[in-house]
Amino acid sequence: MAQRLAGALRPGATIGVLGGGQLGRMTAMAAAALGYRCHIYCPDADSPASQVTSRVTQAAYDNEAALAAFAEAVDVVTFEFENIPLATAQFLARRGPVRPSPEVLRISQNRLREKDFCRQNEVPTAPYATVANLQELRAALQKLGRPAILKTAELGYDGKGQIRLDPETTPEAVWPQLAEAAATTGVILEGFVDFKMEVSVIVARDTRGARQTYVPVDNKHKHHILDQTIVPARLPERVSEKAEGIARHLAEAIDLVGLLAIEMFVTTDNQVLVNELAPRPHNSGHWTLDACTTSQFEQLVRAVAGLPLGATERLADAVMQNLLGDAVETAQDALRDPRVKLHLYGKAEARPGRKMGHTTRLIPRG
Ligand code: AMP
Repeated sequence: MAQRLAGALRPGATIGVLGGGQLGRMTAMAAAALGYRCHIYCPDADSPASQVTSRVTQAAYDNEAALAAFAEAVDVVTFEFENIPLATAQFLARRGPVRPSPEVLRISQNRLREKDFCRQNEVPTAPYATVANLQELRAALQKLGRPAILKTAELGYDGKGQIRLDPETTPEAVWPQLAEAAATTGVILEGFVDFKMEVSVIVARDTRGARQTYVPVDNKHKHHILDQTIVPARLPERVSEKAEGIARHLAEAIDLVGLLAIEMFVTTDNQVLVNELAPRPHNSGHWTLDACTTSQFEQLVRAVAGLPLGATERLADAVMQNLLGDAVETAQDALRDPRVKLHLYGKAEARPGRKMGHTTRLIPRG
């Protein structure tokens, strides 16, 4: 008889997922296909992920009794967003495997740590400086020039917690808006990158250290929120290879088990600079559900369950379109094109800017 895969979770085992959003929902669906159960831990009622799983803990992230019971009930823990408290991941890691590790979370929760980590590993980023007060902001502006972008080190996403400083902006005018963040989690100033394209690469790494990357994709934002992902990014081959090489290198350096999505800028002179790391499935990887041998969600499940990774080859080119807010109301219209796949997240309330679903239009490769 063939030998069992050493260290792999058996079918029927339970994967605990911190967070109940659409990323958790699509992870749970991929887990079910491989015969696993998911147990969602999330503070909200009727979360998108809880709608597709039978086991849910609705509790706060600092509820130790609930976390301890959750740890007892699952075989491995992963997370679907990086802003869960670090202490929550550490608490769970004392009771069982957490993949990716709390250390990966610690680095990716903070822009300064992320950038320092890249620098230590000789991966280029935008020039940056930490800024603790108005004097330091003036000094950093002298060094980095304008425009520059002032960002909170933590909890900023989709452009929240960011202020652009143009030649006419005075440091005194903007500092009060971020002074509190500077005193708590920290603030950094970044030099402005004259990019021609924003791309991302998703890399997976399994428990044996094997790695797989997805092709770099071109991300178009509207009002700082991802609008479209175009697959593949139209870049010279050597630039795509450089971006994938950076992703593989960072996955190794951070000792990843799971997924790491890396947002990068490609400059007009084809430099590749890392902007942000997200140790989880990523919006810019949703196209993999319909266009790849193995989706990012299945890949995450395979990695955390100790299974071998699947192939990441692309079977079709694709355009992923996010459906934000009330765009969801006309979403079904897209199905008139038979090559469009529709994914809705089960969210009841269509607030402006809220990610309600996405479509992926498949373009057969010639
Ligand atoms: P972030 O929250 O860091 O992903 O930033 C949101 C968006 O702001 C990015 O997708 C870019 O379009 C823009 N941005 C952020 N940092 C920079 C930078 N240093 N230079 C130019 N544009 C930036």
